[in-house]
Amino acid sequence: ATPTSVMVGTGRAAEMGVLFRKGAALQALAGVTTVAFDKTGTLTEGHPAVTEVALAPGVTRDEALRLAAALESRSEHPIARAILNAAPVPAPEAEGVEALPGFGLRGRVEGAEILVGAARLMDQHAIAPGDLAGPAARIAASGATPVHVARDGRAIAVLALADPVRPTARAAIATLHEMGVRTALITGDTEATARAVAAELGIDRVTAGVLPGGKVAALDELRADGPLAFVGDGLNDAPALAAADIGIAIGTGTDVAIEAADVVLMAGDPQGVAEALNLSRRTMRNIR
Ligand code: ADP
Ligand code: MG
Repeated sequence: ATPTSVMVGTGRAAEMGVLFRKGAALQALAGVTTVAFDKTGTLTEGHPAVTEVALAPGVTRDEALRLAAALESRSEHPIARAILNAAPVPAPEAEGVEALPGFGLRGRVEGAEILVGAARLMDQHAIAPGDLAGPAARIAASGATPVHVARDGRAIAVLALADPVRPTARAAIATLHEMGVRTALITGDTEATARAVAAELGIDRVTAGVLPGGKVAALDELRADGPLAFVGDGLNDAPALAAADIGIAIGTGTDVAIEAADVVLMAGDPQGVAEALNLSRRTMRNIR
């Protein structure tokens, strides 16, 4: 690769809001055969909202939301803000709140033991969904995230957290496929939710239920097919951005994500991935 053509390529990319942090990344991106995407905040807007509250018999909507909000007031997760926005009144005090990354939250409210989070958090505490199994399955099949609430060992509610896909995500995936690149979705979300979103966007492969520390291992599996790019928004994504052959940070991203990334998409538009790949291929062709 001549330094001049790489300089021209990275300059042109910068004009399009695609920052190559290293010249080598422009060259390496041309050889990528799979692009793996984080879901939340990368292919979706990353600002979920509570769109439904399914209740166990005898439980009220306000009761379920205020207990969930009591715990979520201690969390920084995007799910937390959504639940606080949906809660009707100021949340009561929660004690001993523990964040369980990839699972949810545990704490005490008004003397009761409260759990809020994924189905696997409930499984871990041997709490059966009972009548809420149906609503939870339906919520996940719609592409929303089911958030389970339990009180003293009993499932009391399932909330639907809907996070709309970014308007250009579907076109971005289609363009990558036209360019002969495979796509994958990696998420901590439950399998059914991930499959629904992947189907909506036309994504080839899904790795769901990944714990925050497990994204690197998930990438290693995909890498068997050839050089791999990973696209993430930065929340917990820094190790995966660093581990991929090419790490692409999207949107405003966190400083940590930008540090770990090879490429930064300033506009927060997944179509920037196809633009970056296109530029990279054209630059490499000019060199030969
Ligand atoms: P993601 O890949 O979407 O960033 P996370 O690892 O942050 O996934 O979370 C995985 C799952 O754990 C979420 O889909 C949710 O079900 C549950 N979870 C994590 N944090 C919270 C929280 N603060 N409140 C409720 N549920 C949570
Ligand atoms: Mg994310």
